[in-house]
Amino acid sequence: MNTLVRLLPESCLQALTAAYFRFSAWRALGSRSHSQLKTCIDSKMKVHIIPALQDNYMYLLVDESSNEAAIVDPVNPSKVVEIVNQENVKLTTVLTTHHHWDHAGGNEELVKLVPGLAVYGGDNRIGALNKKVSHGDKLQVGNLEIQCLFTPCHTSGHICYYLPSSSVNGQSAVFTGDTLFQGGCGRFFEGTADQMYHALINVLGALPDDTRVYCGHEYSLQNLAFGLHVEPNNEFVSKRISWAREQRENSQPTVPSLLSEEKQFNPFMRVHEPSVQSHAKQTDPIETMKSLRTEKDSFKANV
Ligand SMILES: [Zn+2]
Repeated sequence: MNTLVRLLPESCLQALTAAYFRFSAWRALGSRSHSQLKTCIDSKMKVHIIPALQDNYMYLLVDESSNEAAIVDPVNPSKVVEIVNQENVKLTTVLTTHHHWDHAGGNEELVKLVPGLAVYGGDNRIGALNKKVSHGDKLQVGNLEIQCLFTPCHTSGHICYYLPSSSVNGQSAVFTGDTLFQGGCGRFFEGTADQMYHALINVLGALPDDTRVYCGHEYSLQNLAFGLHVEPNNEFVSKRISWAREQRENSQPTVPSLLSEEKQFNPFMRVHEPSVQSHAKQTDPIETMKSLRTEKDSFKANV
């Protein structure tokens, strides 16, 4: 998460002003982006991975049978419309993970550009929200069934969106916003270590191991550097760093990861492991989660 969002709880006005200037500055940069566009294709669903801002990802999900589409966190509405037109799909749905400006900040403009959109989210602070959801709610995009998973902590109304394998007729997928990142997790702005433990271990951790994880930011190298600091002997971490470095050198996104991989290299999903607990000098997994997050908050990754 950037400095801006870190400031939000302390000084909303300052942060919003800074956000406006940063957003404008980014717009002035034109189409330069942090990664190339990439598409993942399953038998019933296509996922277009669309880079936005400095390190955000928007995701366009397309139901192949009906050509209906949903967009996750459309912070750059004109880019979304450009890709919707290019792909010739019918955008019906906005899936908002949480209210922070770099995720929900494009909603109001997008509903003006594409009237009639259903805008989902779990927090009244989300712009243009017209379908408030909570844990276990299900929605349809064409023939795709999407389940809402309530994962409060980074923000108190955070929702992840899950498509089971039965829905996509292939590998399941989850869109995790700023709750689960590749190799890391979001800051605890509006929640506690208990809540993040519940989100990562009991909710997301219980999904099938081959679930594809599409997270909200390209933070993988920074997160994995912290992972290596926590577990210097974990080979899954060092191998993933080499792979991720190569991807980034070629401007390729590192998303998606698999849930099984997160369980191997993400210290926040490994709080039951003796090696992680010993680094955190804790024996309880929730206390381990708390210590790791505190340490990561000031960790400077050299990537
Ligand atoms: Zn956020």
